[in-house]
Amino acid sequence: MRVINHTKYKTADLAAFFRAGLKAQVGAEWKSYIIEVFPRGRRRVSKAGIGYRRIWMVLYTRADARDVEWLQRIDGRPHPPRRVDIEQFARVFDHEIGHTLGLRHKDMTAWQDGPPPTWCAGLEIRPKATTALPTADDRITKREEHVRRMVEQWRRRLASAQRTLAKWRRKARYYERRAAAAPKEMDTCQL
Ligand SMILES: [Zn+2]
Repeated sequence: MRVINHTKYKTADLAAFFRAGLKAQVGAEWKSYIIEVFPRGRRRVSKAGIGYRRIWMVLYTRADARDVEWLQRIDGRPHPPRRVDIEQFARVFDHEIGHTLGLRHKDMTAWQDGPPPTWCAGLEIRPKATTALPTADDRITKREEHVRRMVEQWRRRLASAQRTLAKWRRKARYYERRAAAAPKEMDTCQL
């Protein structure tokens, strides 16, 4: 079996998945299959050779509850990788295997029908690169850096404000001294 992986999911996990599906349906023949896997978007639908051992699969993923976009916009955290929908993917794979065995749609039930194939139970297809969420430690480090930046920024603003205050006080003292030095008109009139 040869797996050509165009997705960001682990090739080893995909290979284990395809091997399990093929073994369940074609036994030892699994070794002669070539399977090419695409992320959704690069191809729209999966397909297979009718009567020959070649399958093109589009990986089915679905969003976790925490995977909603507004959450990313609100807290700026990276988008978690979507979870592979193993059962859906297994149904499609079984259907495509059917085609490689020469079956056409009129010979098959709709791929969505019936329970998910049992061979996929417990299998997982995990993301390749760990586009990991920041850990609690990462977030604490980030906040600490922010706090330190704020301390430095306000220290500079305070120093600047103190210089400006000193300047205006000097100007105010000038007028105070000037007023003190001026002759007291009222005094002279009292004579
Ligand atoms: Zn089909």
